[in-house]
Amino acid sequence: MKPAPFDYIALNSIEEITSALNEYGDDAKILAGGQSLVPAMNFRLLQPTMLLDINNVSKLDYVKLNGDKTLKIGALTRQSTIEKDEIIKEKFPLLHETMPQVAHSQIRNRGTIGGNLAHADPASELPAVCIAMGAKLKLISKEGERIIPSSEFFQGMFFTSLEPNEILAEIQIPIPTEHSGFSFMEFSRRRGDYALMGVAAVVVLDKNNNCTEAKLVYLNAGDGQVDAKKAASVLGGEKSSPDLFIEAGRIASEEEIDPFGNVHASTSYQRHLANILTQRALKIAFERAAKKEQNHD
Ligand SMILES: Cc1cc2nc3c(=O)[nH]c(=O)nc-3n(C[C@H](O)[C@H](O)[C@H](O)COP(=O)(O)OP(=O)(O)OC[C@H]3O[C@@H](n4cnc5c(N)ncnc54)[C@H](O)[C@@H]3O)c2cc1C
Repeated sequence: MKPAPFDYIALNSIEEITSALNEYGDDAKILAGGQSLVPAMNFRLLQPTMLLDINNVSKLDYVKLNGDKTLKIGALTRQSTIEKDEIIKEKFPLLHETMPQVAHSQIRNRGTIGGNLAHADPASELPAVCIAMGAKLKLISKEGERIIPSSEFFQGMFFTSLEPNEILAEIQIPIPTEHSGFSFMEFSRRRGDYALMGVAAVVVLDKNNNCTEAKLVYLNAGDGQVDAKKAASVLGGEKSSPDLFIEAGRIASEEEIDPFGNVHASTSYQRHLANILTQRALKIAFERAAKKEQNHD
């Protein structure tokens, strides 16, 4: 397939991007890694008349720790850079462990974190992980900037709260608390395929290993990422136990997610996967948090 005709400009600064977005609005699409946009154009699912190439804007390509409190990642940072970054490996292990499960290394070499999030595929790993980590997103337009929680950014399938004149510029991730544990689990038919089901789990324990905070966020589980608050709430005040994890898995898989099913998996199979992945992810997240609590004493 070939795309519909389009014009192309390569931009060199954030100011040039916001001016161009103002000028072309809905007719334009930002070109980052092109790993989702170009296939969609080739299938003519998207027919922008203007492509705004942001690959020269090096000011959007960085990973830095701000005062040991917040990780800041520029939207143009390649997925492979995030995968290999030593700060992320040490201090943000949930993100580090998830990266190899996003597509294939060739795609991660071009694909950017901003493009992945702006694309808002419900089956993508990174939106779910950003919500689980409490990430915030910085959006910039000619009028100024706004910072919003990632949970508000994702509005549904391929749909975000980005306005046509805004660019996603930065991802801000708070450093995990000392007593937290995490796990990311997904099931796909082949390594690198989009997952049939996946979950990002984060728990925080107190000194007695009782859970004080929990997050369970699912991918490919409905119209968008599913933040399973009811299942997470049953963990509050509790210690690690198989019965607890079975109950959380049951609530999330039966009451909270709403998977569509596809040629590879029925909805009941997706619910089954969510249930099992939840139990496994929580076991690991609790173990990791308890180990940190022990090391801390
Ligand atoms: C074979 C294959 C398998 C894949 N498997 C997976 C997978 O398992 N998991 C997964 O998560 N992804 C997967 N992907 C998608 C991949 O992660 C893409 O890299 C990513 O979704 C898009 O990033 P990109 O930088 O290539 O964005 P692009 O394709 O350039 O852009 C995607 C969309 O985001 C917009 N956009 C880009 N950057 C910005 C910005 N800074 N601000 C505002 N809007 C912006 C574009 O206009 C476009 O609408 C796969 C892709 C392929 C081709």
